[in-house]
Amino acid sequence: MRFSDSFVQEVVDRTDIEELIGRYVTLKRSGSNLMGCCPFHSEKTPSFSVSPSKKLFFCFGCQAGGSVITFVQKAENLDFPEAVEYLANRAGIPLPRESEDPTAPKGVSRKRVLDMNLEAARFFRACLFDPAVGGEGMRYFRENRRMSEATVKHFGLGFAPNSFNALTDHMHRLGYSDEELIAACLCGKSQKTGRAYDYFRNRVIFPIIDPSGNVVAFGGRVMDDSKPKYLNSSDTPAFKKSRHLFALNFAKNDCAERMILCEGYMDVIALHAAGFSSAVATLGTAITPEHARIFAKYTKKVIISYDSDEAGQNAAKKAMRILGEVGMDVRVLRMNGAKDPDEFIRNFGADRFRRLLEESKTGFEYQAERVLAQYDLAIGSDKIKASGDLCSIIAEYWSAVEREVYLSYASQKLGLPVEVLKNSVEQIRRKNKRETVARESREAQASLKNFGDRINPEASSDPRAVAAEEAVLGLLILFEEYRSAVEKGEIPLSDEHFITSFNRRVFCAVMERHASPSGFRFELLGADFEPDEIGRIEKMEVARRQLSQNGPEVFRSAVNVLRGISERKEKAGGDLHSHLAYLRSKKANIHNRKD
Ligand SMILES: [Zn+2]
Repeated sequence: MRFSDSFVQEVVDRTDIEELIGRYVTLKRSGSNLMGCCPFHSEKTPSFSVSPSKKLFFCFGCQAGGSVITFVQKAENLDFPEAVEYLANRAGIPLPRESEDPTAPKGVSRKRVLDMNLEAARFFRACLFDPAVGGEGMRYFRENRRMSEATVKHFGLGFAPNSFNALTDHMHRLGYSDEELIAACLCGKSQKTGRAYDYFRNRVIFPIIDPSGNVVAFGGRVMDDSKPKYLNSSDTPAFKKSRHLFALNFAKNDCAERMILCEGYMDVIALHAAGFSSAVATLGTAITPEHARIFAKYTKKVIISYDSDEAGQNAAKKAMRILGEVGMDVRVLRMNGAKDPDEFIRNFGADRFRRLLEESKTGFEYQAERVLAQYDLAIGSDKIKASGDLCSIIAEYWSAVEREVYLSYASQKLGLPVEVLKNSVEQIRRKNKRETVARESREAQASLKNFGDRINPEASSDPRAVAAEEAVLGLLILFEEYRSAVEKGEIPLSDEHFITSFNRRVFCAVMERHASPSGFRFELLGADFEPDEIGRIEKMEVARRQLSQNGPEVFRSAVNVLRGISERKEKAGGDLHSHLAYLRSKKANIHNRKD
């Protein structure tokens, strides 16, 4: 639903930005702002700033920015009205009564998908507990997997009958259409008839439940060796694979000390049943940076407990790097005598597994042991390779203390002087740094020229005009008196003076909001712009806020620059296309002169 401006403002006014963002990011005071490590990109030095007085945030690294609503949209993967609702609930503000909203977007909403998922979860569960339908599924859980009935119920497990229409018919009876069922990924769409058919068939079902208790998706597993072994929901309006973890709804209550990352549903369930309720798993994908940031939100330490085979160990190595990048204390579990945690606990019991957890290796120990196991240190050439590999691993650590500790470990293992290894580590670090600097300056140059600018694709056509546009917009957002001056015509500026259509849209939105009864408020822009676009607008505001010179003469001269450019544009033929042609010819002339 669409909320009124005054409701949105009340929600923002009653949200403490410091407390809200502080739940995701550790914030430290820096002047009048707060700084922390950005939750939207991986970093170790803080570039994420929060202004409590303005109630705005901005990341100087990835340029995410906006109001508390934008923050919730990005952090919780919600659209604007959902984020307003989320914050309203959090602040205990009752929602306005829902009215028929003719402007509601077509398509299937997140809420509708969640409702369908809940019904489907009930259906799968009823099938599992009906011996005539789900007998085989129940036998699989109880006998093959040795799960107790309590565990089956705890996880809300279910069974999808071997039928193309069991769920579809059931959902039709509840009033859901083919189109909705397909959008929720509960059904596939028949190529021949275009009709919906059951997506999960003859499989045991694992509902994926988010930390707020919503059923967001399903995983289905076959009960024999047929393929594919696992089938998962594709992304829907309620679910993104890269942003959800299985069993986080339980693990979130027991994660302060550590979380255990497993490869699959069965491992997680076995661990929970054995009392390790901080175990979670990704959903049929490798761990992503988005997952890593979820972990960072809940805990400081992750123990990776992947399968003991080659594939599992390689995946563990990758997971270690991704989790390390968000500053996690990462450990890796080494299992002998079992292929996965499920089997280990069945063979050796929960106490032995607890000991494994205590003995889990730090990322460095684990990697170093793997390197050392590959080589025969009695052979000279092997020793050289091993020391090269170890030095590369040590060079990745940014803390000098950590490097010292690992250097002395390596020196002991290799029988080489610390100083020699240290030189080699520093050499690698210098090389890595040169490469990073070169890459970053390439990226900075590209963004300076606004090449490949997704948000304002026209920005590369005339950087000078865009700079003037952004200065004008930043000042208009910051100061009401400039908005009034433009509104009254004291300063002649209209949308026609904007060259790029994105900035023209921003100008129109700002001035429309200014003229409306509630006046301009930054957070209200969120209703008309995507979160990434809001970040760009916030960048303009922050850029001006950081400057000390923002007086009327500065505003007038920025407006004059814009007007000058648009007058030239008129001379060149009036419309944007001919202006661009004019610019191109000018550029060509400059190039010709150079030749
Ligand atoms: Zn960022």
